[in-house]
Amino acid sequence: MTPGAGCRTGAGDAAPSAMSPARATIDAAMPHADTPPAAPTTPPATRPLLTLAAPRRGKPPVHLADLAPADRAAVAREHGLPGFRADQLSRHYFAHFTRDAARMTDLPAAGRAELVGALLPELVTEVRTLEADRGTTRKTLWALHDGARVESVLMRYAERTTLCVSSQAGCGMACPFCATGQLGLTRNLSTAEIVEQVRLAAAASRDGALPGGSTRLTNVVFMGMGEPLANYGAVLAAVRRMVEPPPAGLGLSARNVTVSTVGLVPAIDRLAGEGIPVTLALSLHAPDDELRSELVPINTRYGVDEALDAAHRYFRATGRRVSIEYALIRDVNDHAWRAGLLAEKLLARGRGWVHVNPIPLNPTPGSKWTASEPGVEEEFVARLRQAGIPTTIRDTRGRDIDGACGQLAAEEC
Ligand code: SF4
Repeated sequence: MTPGAGCRTGAGDAAPSAMSPARATIDAAMPHADTPPAAPTTPPATRPLLTLAAPRRGKPPVHLADLAPADRAAVAREHGLPGFRADQLSRHYFAHFTRDAARMTDLPAAGRAELVGALLPELVTEVRTLEADRGTTRKTLWALHDGARVESVLMRYAERTTLCVSSQAGCGMACPFCATGQLGLTRNLSTAEIVEQVRLAAAASRDGALPGGSTRLTNVVFMGMGEPLANYGAVLAAVRRMVEPPPAGLGLSARNVTVSTVGLVPAIDRLAGEGIPVTLALSLHAPDDELRSELVPINTRYGVDEALDAAHRYFRATGRRVSIEYALIRDVNDHAWRAGLLAEKLLARGRGWVHVNPIPLNPTPGSKWTASEPGVEEEFVARLRQAGIPTTIRDTRGRDIDGACGQLAAEEC
């Protein structure tokens, strides 16, 4: 995610964001000169390890949301029911957001509980929910079947309601400024564990959990815990469940789903070929390899230019404007010359294909990293806009409940 990761929670849409605190250290003593200073270094002993492969753990029970619609009918038949009962069950789950067998009176009483038990097992259990921003931001900590914990953040805005979801328990990308990154990777989430976060948020929105009364969940951003494209299969299937119309799925607009990444180039190209026009958010955080390799360790494998080339290919394949996420970290990456270099690299690939979202870094306990000074932030944004790059400072909803970008898992997980 963005400090990008870890909910990247200001997650609007424009690159909300997808989507962590740093006990790691970069000596924050870089002058705001207009020339490139040397990149800071982080003592190796304090750095978590970059991990691409998830540890093997017991799999969660199979769930309706793990199955393509055609496979659901087969499971209904295994339970002695005609295939169309699977459609009815799917409608309860994806259209009415319920897994309560007592409310499914159109299903025959005989065998109903067994079918619901088999296809809608409880996968996520609420541990606690914290509120901020007068209740319009709600961060929920979920326990999974094996005790792993993840978080999601629900945010109501004037014109949309957005959920920031987790795709992994922990994260293996080891970004030193990110709370989630300091945890390491526990495991990948299953498709249904991701969809359940969305289904529960849709139900909470409908049921008036947010101020302003009943509303519809409109946007989902993968900017919670984890690197979504490192859990590609489960994330893509979850996206399909989100955008397919009921009863196959939840019926969200693909354009309102944002998948963020630190730049796993082969997976970006694969996503571009899926035919689902989700928004791609690239968590860049630095325009030069020297610094980016410190901030985003995967950069040593896929450098800045490779990641930007892949993002541009994504735009050309899908027509969807790409969001560049850039956590502004005081005296680390917020220099005006870096804004200029970023603009240069984006313009070298064309105009109109990209939007930049600088995000003031959310401080986390015990971290030396902090947000840029307001004047520095303004100059960074001005440099980009002067170059003709659409740029929007992303808000930092939920900062006081550690629900903002880069703060997920700061306390609990
Ligand atoms: S460590 Fe993971 S969650 Fe945190 S910013 Fe990096 S990719 Fe995102």
